[in-house]
Amino acid sequence: MKLYLVQISATYGSNKFCFLPYSVGSLWSFAVTEEIVKENYSLENIFFLREDFDEVLSRMDNPSVVAFSLYVWNENYSLTLARKIKEKFKNCLIVVGGPSVPKNSENFLKDHPFIDLCVHNEGEESFKNILIQNLSNSPNFYLDNVSTIIDNKYFKGAFSRITSLDSIPSPYTTGVFDNIIREHPDIEFNMILETNRGCPFSCTFCDWGTLTTQKIKQLGLERVYSEIEWCAENKIEFIEIADANFGIFVKRDNLIVDKMIEVKNKKGYLKQIASSWNKNAKDETLSIAKKLFDNGLYRRFTVSIQTLDEKSLIAIKRKNTDGSNFEYMLESAKEYGLPVSTETIIGLPEETYESYMKTLDFILDNQIPYQYNVLQILDNSEMSDPSYIKKYDLDIIRTESSFSDDFAKEYQNMCVGTRTLPRKSFEKLLLFQWFVFSFHSFHITQVIAFTLKKVFNVKITDFYKDFLNHLLSDSSNCIYKDLQKFLNPIKNKQMAYLENSYNQTQSDILSKVFNNEEFYRDLKNFCIRSYACDKLVIEDAISIQLNSYNYQRFSEESILNFNTNLQDHLEKNIPLTFKPKKYKIIKNSIPSNILDWYSHFRYTSWGTSWKTTIYEI
Ligand code: SF4
Repeated sequence: MKLYLVQISATYGSNKFCFLPYSVGSLWSFAVTEEIVKENYSLENIFFLREDFDEVLSRMDNPSVVAFSLYVWNENYSLTLARKIKEKFKNCLIVVGGPSVPKNSENFLKDHPFIDLCVHNEGEESFKNILIQNLSNSPNFYLDNVSTIIDNKYFKGAFSRITSLDSIPSPYTTGVFDNIIREHPDIEFNMILETNRGCPFSCTFCDWGTLTTQKIKQLGLERVYSEIEWCAENKIEFIEIADANFGIFVKRDNLIVDKMIEVKNKKGYLKQIASSWNKNAKDETLSIAKKLFDNGLYRRFTVSIQTLDEKSLIAIKRKNTDGSNFEYMLESAKEYGLPVSTETIIGLPEETYESYMKTLDFILDNQIPYQYNVLQILDNSEMSDPSYIKKYDLDIIRTESSFSDDFAKEYQNMCVGTRTLPRKSFEKLLLFQWFVFSFHSFHITQVIAFTLKKVFNVKITDFYKDFLNHLLSDSSNCIYKDLQKFLNPIKNKQMAYLENSYNQTQSDILSKVFNNEEFYRDLKNFCIRSYACDKLVIEDAISIQLNSYNYQRFSEESILNFNTNLQDHLEKNIPLTFKPKKYKIIKNSIPSNILDWYSHFRYTSWGTSWKTTIYEI
C-alpha cells in the first residue's frame, strides 16, 4: 500500500530555507517498527514545499493513505490539497494531525468531509494503529487520540501518551529524509532536535494542549547524540531544539551541549542553535547558554518575558515563570558576559496601555534587544476557550497571514483588544510599538533617545511619543503618508506591516529617513523646541547616530569635529564638557550578508559587532 506524508514547512519569502518534516518523519519511523506495517506499506514521498496542487497530484500514484501535519502556516494549503486528493483518489484514507487540529473536532470534521480521521496529542502510536487497522476489511478506527465521524456519529478516543519515547527510532538516522536531501541540493535544510517532550507550565496562549502540565519524558541520550552527528554529516547548519524548556535537566542538557560543541569543532558543520529555555531559568541554565555562546553556537540568551505586568502574568498563567525572574536573570547574564534579548506580546489580557509602556521602558532603559508580536489566539490554547474570551473580553479578528501565497491563503486569529485595552488603544499602542522598534532598534534615532535621557532627563518612551505625534501632524515630512495609513491599521488592512518586528514595507519606509538630512534637521529642531536642549549636544548626537551603524557610510576612515565630548559621556560616563573635540571613526568591515536596507535593519537591531568605533584624537 502506498503512503504519502505532507508537512509543509514554514518558509519566508522563498523555498530556500526549510525545516525537515520531523513530525511526519517520526510517524513513519515509529510505524515501521511494526512488522505488519513494514511488510504492507511503502513510503512513496514526503511533501514539504508549497507547490502547485496539480504538480503534487501528478506525483501521487494511487495512494492508500495520505497523512498531514497541520499548523498555522500550512493549514489551508494542506486542507485544499487533502480535498483534491480525495476528489481524485476516492478510496484514499485522509488523516490529519498537528497543533491546528481542534481538540473538539466534530465541527471541523463536518466542515471538511474529505478528512477521514483526526489525530490528537502525540501521534506516533495512533498513526501506527491507524495503518494496521486500515489493512483490515472492517477497520476499527475507534482508537485512542483519534476522532472521526462514522455513520453520522462523532467519536473521539481517550487521551493517551506514548509509554516510552525511546521506542521511536530517529527519522534522521534511519534515513527517512535521505531522498528529500538528495533530491533538493538547492535547499538549505534546518533541523528540529527533540530531546524531551512535555511541559510543566500551562501558559494560556500556548497550544501544546494536553502536553502541557504533563510529565516531561526524555528521548534517549544516545539517540540525541546520533542526531547531532547526523546533522553535521548532512551539512545542516541550524538546529532548533523543540523542547519547551531546554536547560531544565541541568546535567543531561550540559551533556547535549558538550556533544554539539564536540561535533562543531570536529566536523565544521552545525553553526547555530535556537531553543526555548527553561522558564524558571537559573544560573545553571545560563551557564549552558554561555557554553554555546563561547563556542559560537548561540548569539543571545532569550528570556521571553512577554510582559512585566503582574496582573497580566497571572491572567496568562506565567506568574511563576521567567517574567518574575527577569531582573535577576538580567543581572546574572551580565556577570556571565552573556548577551540577552527578550520578547513582548501586545494584547495580553489585563495589560493596559500604561502597563505595556512600563515593560517597554524597562527594556529600553536596560538596552535589551527585543522583538514584539501581537497576541495570536491559537486553536487549542486555553485562550481560545469561549469562557476565557468572555472573561477578558478578548476582541479577536481573523487576518490573512504572511504565509499566504498564490496556492492558498493562510489566516491567523489576532487579539486586537481586551477589557483593559480597547481596540482604539490597541491600535494606538501597536503603531507606537512599531515606531519605537523601527526607529530605536534599527538605529535611526537611538543615540538621540539615549542623549535626551542621559543629558536632558527625557524618558525614552516620552521622546518617541512626542516625536511620533510630531511626524503625524507635519504633512511635509517624508513618511507622513506612510504613517497616516497606520493610524487605523485594522480598517486600512495594514496589520501585516505592524504586527511583528521585521518586514520589507517597514524597511522601505525607513530607508527614506536614513541619511536624509532634512529629516535629521527637523529632528534637531524638534528636540530643541520640545525639551529646550542645547543645540550643540543634539548636533553631536545626530553626528554619532549617523556614523554608528550605517552600511552606506562604511568605506573609509574619517575625522569628525564634535562640539562636546558627548561620545565619551554616553559610552564611558565621563562628565559632559563643552569644548570642540576631534574624533576618529574606524569603520569596521560590513558583514557580507548586509546587502540592502532590509538586511541592514535586521542585522543592526541586535547591535552586532560591526558598529563603528569612534574615539577622540
Ligand atoms: S508556552 Fe512554553 S512554557 Fe508555556 S505552556 Fe507552552 S510550552 Fe510550556
